[in-house]
Amino acid sequence: MATPHTDPIDCIVLGGGPAGLQAALTLARVHRSVVLVDEGPGRNAAAAHMQNVVTRDGTPPAEFRAIAREQLAAYRTVRQLDGTAVAAETRDDGVVVDLADGERLEARYLVLATGVADLPLPLPGLARHWGGQVAHCPFCHGHELGRRVVVLGGEPQREHPLRMMVGVAEHLTWLTDGVRLEPDVVAGLERLGVVVDERRATGVVERDGQLIGLALKDGTELACNGVLTGGAWVQRSELPAALGCAMLPDGAIEVDEAGATSVPRVFAAGDAAHRAAAGPGHSVIASAAAGQMAALGVVRALIA
Ligand SMILES: Cc1cc2nc3c(=O)[nH]c(=O)nc-3n(C[C@H](O)[C@H](O)[C@H](O)COP(=O)(O)OP(=O)(O)OC[C@H]3O[C@@H](n4cnc5c(N)ncnc54)[C@H](O)[C@@H]3O)c2cc1C
Repeated sequence: MATPHTDPIDCIVLGGGPAGLQAALTLARVHRSVVLVDEGPGRNAAAAHMQNVVTRDGTPPAEFRAIAREQLAAYRTVRQLDGTAVAAETRDDGVVVDLADGERLEARYLVLATGVADLPLPLPGLARHWGGQVAHCPFCHGHELGRRVVVLGGEPQREHPLRMMVGVAEHLTWLTDGVRLEPDVVAGLERLGVVVDERRATGVVERDGQLIGLALKDGTELACNGVLTGGAWVQRSELPAALGCAMLPDGAIEVDEAGATSVPRVFAAGDAAHRAAAGPGHSVIASAAAGQMAALGVVRALIA
């Protein structure tokens, strides 16, 4: 029988979202001592349901976390803490993490699964509907956004999710908010049935708490059931940068296939990290998969 919480512990996992929960579970499966620290809530907390998660399509994010935490509690080598990590440093033989309540944790390895924070949305009022009628990801919410969808914002990166919504929404408008598009881009989109509207938006139109459209600068309204926008993010925690982890141009922590960062003894997973050769995964399943890979990397290092 493994001794729980040997001193120093094998691994500290910071972050109790899909990435950190899976990392802790994988470590627990081989009786490695792990402390999971989470300040909650996670990135998708605003959404009533999460989608595109096999066997859990439509499950509330809080329920997903609660099930994971309950199942982790069955492993004697796992300690789960509600708290905030405020400082971290590496030493030759391990890592040290300080929590806001003054507790100091020492371990051989660290997994950063601290996620990202979404930047404020471009219009007043949109945040009230974030994760419901306003979302950033067609895979997560496109199916639920309804018949009449507006993709808001003229940045070039909007075109990719816009094209994913062709055939999902019956009426699809790209409201570029004042950005002029090249005529051939407009023509190509119109051939797909997309309405390109270059007017500016000023706010949301609501009735009985529901979003029913966007207010435009010219004083008119654009009716819709859902808005696709947002998606810009920054690291949620300052610890990856404070530890000196190499970062990618998009702001993610750079990791290798095993989730190792540029800093010895520090691994990372989930929305916060990806490989240079791959784009960010930013989904529940991708984050959990990365959490498992990082845990495998830790186990490999522990037995090496
Ligand atoms: C509105 C919205 C809806 C979404 N819906 C879906 C969906 O339907 N399906 C889907 O697949 N994906 C969805 N996503 C994406 C999904 O939420 C993320 O990909 C996923 O949560 C990433 O998991 P993670 O573990 O990396 O990070 P998170 O789930 O964000 O978890 C990170 C955790 O780290 C903790 N943390 C951070 N810093 C510290 C610290 N210093 N100390 C202690 N704890 C800390 C946080 O409290 C948090 O709990 C959605 C995203 C948004 C914004």
